[in-house]
Amino acid sequence: VLESAPKVPGRPRHKTREVAVGDKVFGGANPVWVQSMTTTDTFDVEGTVEQIKKLEEAGCELVRVTVPKPEDAGALGEIRKRIGIPLICDIHFDYKMALAALDHPIDKIRINPGNIGGYDRFRQVVRKAKAKGIPMRVGVNAGSLEKELVEKYGFPCPPAIVESALRSIEVAESEGYDQIVVSLKSSDVLVAVESYRLFAQLADYPTHIGITEAGKPPYAVTKSSAGLAPILLDGIGDTIRISLLGDPVPEIAAAFDILQATQRRVRRPELIACPTCGRLAIDLEKIIAELEQRLEGRRLPVKISVLGCVVNGPGEAREADIGIAAGNGKGMIFRNGEIVRRVDEAEIVDALMEEVARWEIENADR
Ligand code: SF4
Repeated sequence: VLESAPKVPGRPRHKTREVAVGDKVFGGANPVWVQSMTTTDTFDVEGTVEQIKKLEEAGCELVRVTVPKPEDAGALGEIRKRIGIPLICDIHFDYKMALAALDHPIDKIRINPGNIGGYDRFRQVVRKAKAKGIPMRVGVNAGSLEKELVEKYGFPCPPAIVESALRSIEVAESEGYDQIVVSLKSSDVLVAVESYRLFAQLADYPTHIGITEAGKPPYAVTKSSAGLAPILLDGIGDTIRISLLGDPVPEIAAAFDILQATQRRVRRPELIACPTCGRLAIDLEKIIAELEQRLEGRRLPVKISVLGCVVNGPGEAREADIGIAAGNGKGMIFRNGEIVRRVDEAEIVDALMEEVARWEIENADR
């Protein structure tokens, strides 16, 4: 078993077709895009644009707004004009609102097939989306699954959720429309994970991943990570949203952290630090705080290990791109597994930053 096990961890990305949403292409080898949703009344153009700008500043790459009323649809054109990221409309219950939203310059529409009132209505929305060239998310949600499927399977289990998505896809395809992204959300982590895995076995449409109604941070972030990490590690997921109660801005950092930790989208240095214990030989907390501050804004995926003593320090430092192993108020600096210098504790941060600068020059085209 050991000899046949893969030495290099990580499953390849699930192969999906590509669907363009504004200037972002979902699926294929494209990045797993980070998106969020506003909490404002969409018809309040000023408030909505203000919140979207804050999301953009935080790194949000696509934004969704709710469109429950005609005045919300009427605000879409103005909002779209004033923001720099693709605009997605979220529709529940009223297919007429979907038809109204499609009259405006939106980049994608999200439909919940379980609450739109049947496939005839869904078909009308598909026809209009096709005519306008606008992609659609088929957003299945365990909490609002078609009654017939709940009865067939007994409860909103993964096969019921996936069958809902496949049925909608079939209807859309029968209309010659395939600009589809799929989500299979549940507030139950196990149901969500198995739904995405099952869907990936049966279809090659890109997926929007998320754990719905995760609640209030910090538990909501942990719960989302528990659900999204297995999905991402299986190579599934083409766009991600972390659903947090309240202000959506913290959703963005949480999404990028999950993508970084699962190595699906590494966008900044990875800092490896030990938790410290009674063997600690340097002021590790101070060093890490200073390093975090000085690494802020750097984009290269360098792995930096800073450990507090010689127990695991040299081993971790050798495995990282840059590392330090501390002992007796001094630090041994490693680069690419080799010891390059020894410095006093007070010089550790400067020495590490010099090595980071060197590493960036050597790896500029990575
Ligand atoms: Fe403790 Fe050393 Fe391990 Fe850090 S590396 S937790 S100081 S034993």
